[in-house]
Amino acid sequence: MKTCDHINCDKQAIYTGHIYGRVSGSDNKDSFIPVNACDTHSEDDRFYPDKPLSETE
Ligand SMILES: [Zn+2]
Repeated sequence: MKTCDHINCDKQAIYTGHIYGRVSGSDNKDSFIPVNACDTHSEDDRFYPDKPLSETE
């Protein structure tokens, strides 16, 4: 089981996708970062879902 990549969230991830943001320690350009998200965080405005995790396993 994968867990949500959101900070302070340990719910089960149901979506794989990307968020648009800045990676700490990298250069100052925003970019798409691959993440897993739970039901709640897949609704986030900055989250771009690719597909449900159940389809990848
Ligand atoms: Zn979450």
